[in-house]
Amino acid sequence: MVELEKRFEYIVNTSSDFITLVNREYRYDVVNESYIRNIEKPREEILGHRVEEVWGKDVFFKTIKPHLDRCLAGEEVHYVDRFEFGPSWRYMHISYYPYQENGEITHALVFSHDITRLGEIEAKLINYEFRDPMTGLFNGRSLDIILEMELEKANRSQKEELLSLLFISITNLQEINLSHGHALGNMLLENTGIRIRELLRNSDYIFRYEGNELVVLLTCLNQEYGPAVVARKIHDIVTIPYRSGSHDICLTCHIGISLFPKDGDSPQNFINSAAEALRRSMSENRPYLMYDRKIHNQAVSRLKMESDMVRAFEKGEFQLNYQPIVDINGKIEGCETLIRWDHPQKGRIPPSEFIPLAERNGLIVSIGKWVIFKTLRSLKSWSEEYSIYTSLNLTSREFEDNHLLSILQAALKQAELENPDRIRLECTESMEMLHPDLIIEKMKSLSEAGFEIFLDDFGTGYSSLSYLKDLPASTLKLDKSFIDEIVHSQESRNFLKLIIHLAENLNKELIAEGVETEEQLAVLKKEGCHKFQGYYFSPPLTEQELLTLLKAGRALPVIREG
Ligand code: C2E
Ligand code: CA
Ligand code: CA
Repeated sequence: MVELEKRFEYIVNTSSDFITLVNREYRYDVVNESYIRNIEKPREEILGHRVEEVWGKDVFFKTIKPHLDRCLAGEEVHYVDRFEFGPSWRYMHISYYPYQENGEITHALVFSHDITRLGEIEAKLINYEFRDPMTGLFNGRSLDIILEMELEKANRSQKEELLSLLFISITNLQEINLSHGHALGNMLLENTGIRIRELLRNSDYIFRYEGNELVVLLTCLNQEYGPAVVARKIHDIVTIPYRSGSHDICLTCHIGISLFPKDGDSPQNFINSAAEALRRSMSENRPYLMYDRKIHNQAVSRLKMESDMVRAFEKGEFQLNYQPIVDINGKIEGCETLIRWDHPQKGRIPPSEFIPLAERNGLIVSIGKWVIFKTLRSLKSWSEEYSIYTSLNLTSREFEDNHLLSILQAALKQAELENPDRIRLECTESMEMLHPDLIIEKMKSLSEAGFEIFLDDFGTGYSSLSYLKDLPASTLKLDKSFIDEIVHSQESRNFLKLIIHLAENLNKELIAEGVETEEQLAVLKKEGCHKFQGYYFSPPLTEQELLTLLKAGRALPVIREG
């Protein structure tokens, strides 16, 4: 804790942003070095003093207090304003975040970021004739200046921000000009710009560049393959035919894509890379091409996998497997449901490849629902003979879905299962760390509704031990990476002892995952672990295989004789 506080203090004090914590009496409880340096007053005259003493009554009541009050009432507030610092004025981007202690908002956490330079660029921009009043498209001249502004913003951003330039060439515009006249060609180009504009977000830009070219600047991207998704949509929309009199006019287009900062860290290099990608996409006759060939290939295969996934879902290419979980005597007490995708061309695709993708594009919610409904139906049919449970994996997106509980209850009803005592829900450690309080609440409501919680991949995340005791999980699933090491590493074995001890004290069960060998099992048993899962006992099985095993009623592993 002390370490963490030290680190926090270090970060706060080395930040060039101003960071302050203002309490409900409008007094400064924390101010960082940067704030003090810029205000040019000694720390004692700020810390513990009221904001109005530092900024004067007028500024405080007019421009600070209203925002502070909104924030202290629970609202996040962001705005840009001009402030006097000594002899100069500065443009500041200010963010107020409600700060809670023991569930109550006690302070406003205020970050102020100096954007004076950006303010100057923006002012310059206003003086330009930069937008066509009819179409709202930016003209080519403003590309440099907007790029400069956005690149600077991205460089200053705390988060890693990607930008992308798309050079779009309408390759048959010249022919259209010749056969239908310049006026029509011009109109089609502008209309195309408007069609594209509708696909973009507010934070993106579209420029009418030179001759037959349009340029799009995408901002605030978080994935390298995002621009390929947009390029594909642009290509689709540009090539929808226009009706002219009695016939259709069809535009053809190619798109070259560059990424910032990867393909050029200055505006000019960034532009050159997109132009180069465009040239190549034309010479290779591809609808779009990214400057970096490797990223392009990854993007294309990801997009292909995404569209295949939708189809796979419709065509029933997903299957479920069940991997036994056994007790100390090798008796099957439950099983984990694991999804499989049998792709007609690529063969079996591991869930570690497609689940993250489904999570990003949202398909996970449908896939998850299918897994829940199907597993519960199977569980019902087994439960008449075998009283085993099944555990279901949930990604953070599914877990955060407000409908999860009602989906589970609907699935119970549909499967005619009376109560949820045969179902376990597996959540990973990293998931809770995102919004610990929220997740604990979610877990509580699920476990109160009767769904037992397993904490998956335990030992790979960063759960603090004190926090573990509040977690409504009944069971910790010890990650395979530990089990791999316990035979050879004394340190891992010591750690294992500690975890077993901890689990006992917290009254939680422990399942060792990924047990592959007899040696591992021997160590685990010796140290006091009683439940296991892994290839040593059984790989994931089809439903039929699982039923055959259950029917045989033998302890695992089944040793084949002869
Ligand atoms: P997980 O939840 O940690 O699942 C355990 C993984 O370890 C499974 O991989 C299982 O086949 C594998 N495994 C079990 N025993 C052994 C062993 O002894 N040695 C080795 N090397 N591996 C073992 P799988 O099936 O490839 O699943 C990978 C991950 O995909 C799972 O990790 C889980 O996070 C996710 N996943 C699988 N099915 C679903 C699902 O239906 N929904 C969601 N949201 N995620 C799923
Ligand atoms: Ca799992
Ligand atoms: Ca696991």
